[in-house]
Amino acid sequence: MADVKRAIENVEPWNDPQAQPYVRIENVTKMFGEFTAVDSVSLEIYKAEVFCLLGGSGCGKSTLLRVLAGFETPTSGRVLIDGVDMAGIAPYERPTNMMFQSYALFPHMTVENNVAFGLRQEGIAAAEISKRVGDMLDLVKLGPFAKRKPHQLSGGQRQRVALARSLIKQPKLMLLDEPLGALDKKLREETQFELINIQEELGVTFIVVTHDQEEAMTLSSRIGVMNAGEIVQTGTPNDIYEYPNSRFVADFIGSVNVFEGRIVEDQPDHVRIESQEAGCPLYIDHGVGVTSGSRVWVAVRPEKIEITRDKPAQQDNCAAAVVDEIAYMGNQSIYHVLLESGKKLRITRPNQSRTSSDSITWEDQVFVAWHPSSGVVLTA
Ligand code: ATP
Repeated sequence: MADVKRAIENVEPWNDPQAQPYVRIENVTKMFGEFTAVDSVSLEIYKAEVFCLLGGSGCGKSTLLRVLAGFETPTSGRVLIDGVDMAGIAPYERPTNMMFQSYALFPHMTVENNVAFGLRQEGIAAAEISKRVGDMLDLVKLGPFAKRKPHQLSGGQRQRVALARSLIKQPKLMLLDEPLGALDKKLREETQFELINIQEELGVTFIVVTHDQEEAMTLSSRIGVMNAGEIVQTGTPNDIYEYPNSRFVADFIGSVNVFEGRIVEDQPDHVRIESQEAGCPLYIDHGVGVTSGSRVWVAVRPEKIEITRDKPAQQDNCAAAVVDEIAYMGNQSIYHVLLESGKKLRITRPNQSRTSSDSITWEDQVFVAWHPSSGVVLTA
């Protein structure tokens, strides 16, 4: 839904040279002793974005979030929010609010008192607190649970209380560290959509830390992929999935088959690659601008490879294979096939009908093939 809405409004400020970023991270490095947790990170994040910092455990994403919140001071570089340099500005004076991995709700307080807590501390009048808490509980669909205590709620409901408690202070920038980490898969998926709806309604800018690539794909306007303290690629979920800039990103986001090879011909509109692993000429319908003979890798997503009994007409991007394993997943089947080179490929096929007369099975001799636009050439 969020993607649909964004597409209709064509909200892509990062492609608009006039747009001013709301958060500007300039060459931020954070060291703990000799160890570099965040390494020269520069990012520009725009108003009302949901920007996900995505990466494996220990890659520095929480540290970067803590730098934004003001809980860590950068070793070098600077952070500007709404044009203001945050150096020396305490966390509580920043236009940010951070929701932590553990929601840290007050166990002895009701839902409404948990949500009202921050406003009471600010000395806001009781009538206004009551109105704002009521509105916020409606927004996160917790109105009927106002009098309950946290232990009387489900994980997803507790997560929404924490969100309400953070949002009620009307931060311009919400920093969320693994906000859905405590939820099981189904609840996580449902809550992702709720989170997007709430974010869109309020127009708050969200920066979300997650190690879960599916979550990043669902939530984000853009994703910054982190590895060993560095941002290795920034882009929309579609950019990152379809046009990864390295084997690391291709492999981190979804599954991918990677063939090692050498460029034999590189023209503006196509490239030819020889690859022993693939056992067939590889042809991609765009140039890459590297010298002939260069070592490259071609990444092809499992859903982009066709698997057939009959030999396709094409010579390029087509190889004989034997079916090694099949996993039936309900909505799709996953095939592991072995090429003559011994290379194993992963291929997915949607299960459109309940039964299939041409069903391919274990040990079958098959052909695998893909379109010239399906491969991505990677040089790193
Ligand atoms: P996770 O998903 O596991 O939370 P992360 O990407 O959020 O990982 P960070 O918490 O940012 O990772 O930590 C990055 C690196 O910095 C880790 O190797 C961590 O051990 C180290 N680190 C974090 N905080 C400190 C600290 N206060 N002192 C020393 N090292 C730290």
